[in-house]
Amino acid sequence: MSQTLQAIRGMNDILPVEADLWEEFEESVRGWLRAYGYRPIRMPMVEPTPLFARAIGEVTDIVEKEMYSFEDALNGESLTLRPEGTASCVRAVLQHNLLYDGPKRLWYMGPMFRHERPQKGRYRQFHPVGVEAMGFAGPDIDAEQIAMCARLWDDMGLLRIRLELNSLGQGAERARHRADLLTYLEQHHDQLDAEARRRLHSNPLRILDTKNPALQAVVEAAPKLVDYLGEDSLRHFEGVQQLLKDAAIPYRINTRLVRGLDYYNLTVFEWVTEQLGAQGTVCAGGRYDGLIEQLGGKPAPACGFAMGIERLLALWLDQGHRQETPVPDAYLVHQGEAAARFAFRVAEALRSAGFAIHLHCGGGSFKSQMKKADGSGAQLALIVGDDETAANQVSVKSLRSGFDQRAEQVRVGFDDLAAPLGDRLFLMEGDNGSV
Ligand code: ATP
Ligand code: MG
Repeated sequence: MSQTLQAIRGMNDILPVEADLWEEFEESVRGWLRAYGYRPIRMPMVEPTPLFARAIGEVTDIVEKEMYSFEDALNGESLTLRPEGTASCVRAVLQHNLLYDGPKRLWYMGPMFRHERPQKGRYRQFHPVGVEAMGFAGPDIDAEQIAMCARLWDDMGLLRIRLELNSLGQGAERARHRADLLTYLEQHHDQLDAEARRRLHSNPLRILDTKNPALQAVVEAAPKLVDYLGEDSLRHFEGVQQLLKDAAIPYRINTRLVRGLDYYNLTVFEWVTEQLGAQGTVCAGGRYDGLIEQLGGKPAPACGFAMGIERLLALWLDQGHRQETPVPDAYLVHQGEAAARFAFRVAEALRSAGFAIHLHCGGGSFKSQMKKADGSGAQLALIVGDDETAANQVSVKSLRSGFDQRAEQVRVGFDDLAAPLGDRLFLMEGDNGSV
């Protein structure tokens, strides 16, 4: 016998109980984005490899070792499963000249792919929600994006996610800092690990981001980028902070926050929880004023962030969120050939009237069908047998009521079924206090 095939490691099936939670989250996210004027955009999942190398940076974890790249068998072009969304989004905006009539607020969600070591909160296929504001230069949009996140946590009832903030300044400021940082790190060469030594001359800023505990003392004492910021960068940084203070959003400045992608400048931020172990960053972003020009567009400032759905949902469940399994309004059981055809029509008519109807399919005894009806969680069972079919009627039976008068079965004419059904559901919901 052949072995059952398995999904690729780090790429998960989201089964119905979990997928219901995903849908609940995705629906609230859509409303939240609309409230801030963001419009959806959908990009392909595969892009030409050079897009990511150019956008994210050659010397980053993602481009160096995490991309799923392959050759197009027909023309040999190198293609890559998107490891993140910002590069694709900028590409799409430029390709379709979306900024021609002013700035744009855009968002997307969907799978991204990175060849990382799978662990809790870190997968090879993961699903961020990406939010990008292009054509905006001021600190107001940065602060608004941060405030958006705070509101979403609040809406979801998520607690204890702290905000870390930093400014990466501009290229020239980073260059001056980099020179001093290099001198400093070279002086401490013997204390660096292999990874840091490798990065020393390619991307020393990333060394500050190291998770190696043995390096913490060295990076803690290293020259801080924030001390190299010029007047304009400082004013932008202070502008963001002022708006956050006005909005009563607490934050902590983390001078070592650098982010793993090269395109960022000025504001960078991360939302972090202690509750998920090592994979505690649920949301991260910042400004990328140079990226649009770098990808061949007319220079335009931009700011964006992405949040990992897997991590947010794990936190949501951890903090006690309970997702209710959706239940139909009524479960329709039937017995006999004519009744089956009548039941089919009844179900369709009730769905047209706006009810969620679970029509029993697959036959079985009346008793076993009623068991299924009960197990479905529906408020009502609708029963169609020979008598009902002949009389063009449906029997309605309460499944969830403790009251005798409601538990009793009543017959209702097919043509005016919707109104009594609606009343009954309304009454029963009132009983549960869940209206
Ligand atoms: P990390 O430092 O955790 O690797 P990152 O800086 O690489 O994150 P981004 O590229 O900013 O992450 O991605 C945005 C968000 O997507 C992260 O804040 C995180 O919530 C989530 N995320 C990133 N990589 C993964 C992954 N492999 N699996 C699950 N979620 C992820
Ligand atoms: Mg990463």
